[in-house]
Amino acid sequence: MIRLWKNFLLTALVGVLVSTGAGVGRASPSPAEVGTLAWNPPANLVTPLNQVWAHQESTYGDLYGFRNYGWDQLFANRGSVNFCVRWDSPASVTAAQRDRIHATLARQYKKWMDTMVGQDNWPYATVPIKVVGWAVRDRAQLQWSDSSVDVYVNNIRENAPQCAEPCGRFFVRGGTYPNCPGGDAHHYDQSLWLTSGFGGGAGGDWGQRMGSEYFLNNLDADSVTIFLHEVGHTFGLDDFYDWTPSGVGGFIMKAGSSATITEFDKWMLRDWWRHLKYRYGF
Ligand SMILES: [Zn+2]
Repeated sequence: MIRLWKNFLLTALVGVLVSTGAGVGRASPSPAEVGTLAWNPPANLVTPLNQVWAHQESTYGDLYGFRNYGWDQLFANRGSVNFCVRWDSPASVTAAQRDRIHATLARQYKKWMDTMVGQDNWPYATVPIKVVGWAVRDRAQLQWSDSSVDVYVNNIRENAPQCAEPCGRFFVRGGTYPNCPGGDAHHYDQSLWLTSGFGGGAGGDWGQRMGSEYFLNNLDADSVTIFLHEVGHTFGLDDFYDWTPSGVGGFIMKAGSSATITEFDKWMLRDWWRHLKYRYGF
């Protein structure tokens, strides 16, 4: 079922996007939300965490220069993330399915974000996740008539529907979206790209991709494993195809070895924050 895990952050996107990064805003956390715990992983994880970071430093093309990690997106929004759903399937979608997809996406994303609360001056108690748009080939596939989300019809890129590029963080980096219909509030940071018949997953600064059937079949799952793994990539975490850090067993970023986010995964995420937080004034 899980066979292709790919981190696009490491390939073509890095070189193209680095020079355009700008406009990351400093958040203004309220004191009650500010965690105070310093970097303090369990002793048995210190060595493997250091191994992971050193490996990333030696293999990522532009680890410290890249400016579109999930972290950058989140801080540009002062603590939230907006999504576009790329519905890359001939199936129809009911309003109820739309709302359940949104709820699942938010509930799963929260699993990663909650690991940051109370850690190392992390400023956000919650990170709201909002689906602002749906992209589809044929409007008739979407079985709702309300205007709760923007709908983009037959805007094709990579042979799949996408939301408007002037509204997308992947395409526009100034922190504002002057050419986005509806304005900044209608912009999207990441795409949940659901493709019919797609096996495995892919993730990066642009969002997360997996099978539409897989996501729909896992709406009630406690952990939507592929989605969680790919969100890890959005926040910079690496794959582990060819090596394993010392002394750790299965974890979700080592594909196929854990269905859930483990303590080691959580500390890898926090390690990214430790290394990038200076960008945002922490
Ligand atoms: Zn992966």
